[in-house]
Amino acid sequence: MKLESYVNGQWRAGAGEGRPLINASTGEEIARADATGLDLGAATQFARERGTRALSALSFAERGALLKAIADTLQEHRAEFEDIARRNSGNTSADAAIDIDGGVFTLKTYARLGKSLGDAKMLIEADQEQLARDPVFFARHLWTTRPGAAVQINAFNFPSWGMWEKVAQALLAGVASVAKPATSTALLSERMARRVVEANILPEGALSLICGGADGLIDGLGPMDSVAFTGSADTANFLRRQIATMDPPPRLTVEADSVNATIIGPDVRPDDAVFDLAVREIVKATSVKAGQLCTNIRRIFAPADLSGALIEAAAARISKLKVGDPQDDAVRVGPLINAAQRDDALGKIERLLSECREVAAAPPPDAPAGSGFVAPRLLVCDAPEAASAAHEIEVFGPCATIMPYESLHQAAALATKAAGALALSLFSNNPETQMSVAAALGPWHGRLLMVDEEVGKNHTGHSIVMPQCVHGGPGRAGDGEELGGLRGLRLHLQRSAIQGGPAALTALSAAAAEASL
Ligand code: NAP
Repeated sequence: MKLESYVNGQWRAGAGEGRPLINASTGEEIARADATGLDLGAATQFARERGTRALSALSFAERGALLKAIADTLQEHRAEFEDIARRNSGNTSADAAIDIDGGVFTLKTYARLGKSLGDAKMLIEADQEQLARDPVFFARHLWTTRPGAAVQINAFNFPSWGMWEKVAQALLAGVASVAKPATSTALLSERMARRVVEANILPEGALSLICGGADGLIDGLGPMDSVAFTGSADTANFLRRQIATMDPPPRLTVEADSVNATIIGPDVRPDDAVFDLAVREIVKATSVKAGQLCTNIRRIFAPADLSGALIEAAAARISKLKVGDPQDDAVRVGPLINAAQRDDALGKIERLLSECREVAAAPPPDAPAGSGFVAPRLLVCDAPEAASAAHEIEVFGPCATIMPYESLHQAAALATKAAGALALSLFSNNPETQMSVAAALGPWHGRLLMVDEEVGKNHTGHSIVMPQCVHGGPGRAGDGEELGGLRGLRLHLQRSAIQGGPAALTALSAAAAEASL
């Protein structure tokens, strides 16, 4: 089977042989994807001129209704999507839910936001500034839709969520999406887009899809277009360099890789509920989606006098994880998406072992050579101050490293060695510890999760990105920002200071919905 791209309102196959997509558990080829010969410049022009023009003519409530219709259509076909996720992404049923239901939930969240903004097509900030001595000259800040196309390049680990979270924000802002899923898992993105196109929900040009390599995709973009990239730092830097030579350039936002951490507070004892909650989260980091989450915990900072108990508790559970083909419902950990990712992860674990020791590993399955299996592992880095690889290398698989610390100050300093990350969690019942971690590590992270006894099991998880909260991180993590409710629309809107008299500003405020972004 060869995947097609959806461009200029038509499904089209590329002219080349394409790259294979495989069954992650068996290594068998299940499809090919190729975009050779497609006129990508014409595709973004079609999106800009047809899709954005049509979407921007709609109100927020009407755009929200489109998002709701997409979510409903996806839910109707959920079983088909889960089957693809199990085969192509090696997802267990729970893993598939994070990707598929996470995408649907994000669409519905933005659909509700659209409904709440009603008939308006613009947003206006609440504050009105008086600029002259007499009350006749004022300013307010207005957000309007940029008449461009939103090019959305995604990583392989979220073929559903990654695509729909970006589409949801762009569509609600009134901008057409040109989605480019990673080739190795594009089957799910293609099938979802196909079902949405078949349901005839969207105006022509509002959603395009490029399956296969997309060299040249950003060449023809202009100042009103945007590129939202999620993937590795290497590709991000390549795109940054290319965009820096474009004059005028499109907007760019980057979500890149990240060596995230969790801190177990100095107050935590082995018989505390937060200790168990931390162990639970560490086990999830080495099992959920086989560790292929950008926000996953990679480093665990534990008080030196607690680390022995933590290693024992986590190791006992990790060494019992059942790894295998996710077609078997008893399996807790599926394969990485292909053998190349497996080899990459195993190579990086080898590099970590120059500074760390392995304290637990789940039994590996009897797997075919072309499959992606990596047995979950727990490592310990006894000298985190002297280590570098343990803070810098992202093993994109089921592996996490415990690092003992002597003081909270030292733990916070060690956390910054990742040079900026997407998410940090803290397990502690002490408000002072929570305060000082938020103050010291806020600048280094896009999101901080504080788990104490009162939160208990009600938290949404270290790795789970909630559409209500911003997602992204400074420094190495790309320095981008997505989601966070209406804040996610900022990439697609222009904020202008509107200066004028009471009549002009009153008319504007009547036409725009008041919002703080
Ligand atoms: P990748 O190799 O950098 O690829 C990401 C995307 O870029 C793919 O769609 C790829 O297409 C595309 N691409 C590559 N070269 C391109 C070019 N010249 N022009 C336009 N597009 C190009 O990353 P990956 O291996 O798919 O993803 C794994 C990484 O993503 C991990 O490091 C993970 O931490 C990170 N990630 C970050 C987040 C986040 O939100 N921060 C979320 C998920 C994953 P092809 O597949 O066709 O090559």
